[in-house]
Amino acid sequence: MGNILVSLCRSCGFKNEFRIGGGRFNYQTYCPVPAINKESLEFEQINYYEHKNSDKYLFYSDAALKGENKNDRTINNFDLYFNEEGNYCPNCKNKTLAFRVTKYLD
Ligand SMILES: [Zn+2]
Repeated sequence: MGNILVSLCRSCGFKNEFRIGGGRFNYQTYCPVPAINKESLEFEQINYYEHKNSDKYLFYSDAALKGENKNDRTINNFDLYFNEEGNYCPNCKNKTLAFRVTKYLD
């Protein structure tokens, strides 16, 4: 149900690991997603359900953080869609951050 992902920036080498989607027993209340904190401009993994109506975050499912998705592949969790390529990098500010699923969880 959830996925573990890694990011890698093709411009500056920034990388991290994060999770999209909760587990079988908590997915209705817990949906971790990658986001940018608008105040600190830092990358954070936050619970979508707690923050979906908040102005504090931009989610990586938002068009604002998406650039050209060169390989045309997406990762989705219910109605949230994430691009594999062309995401905003919090380090160099280019849209060159790639996401890849490394593990599928149930
Ligand atoms: Zn970068």
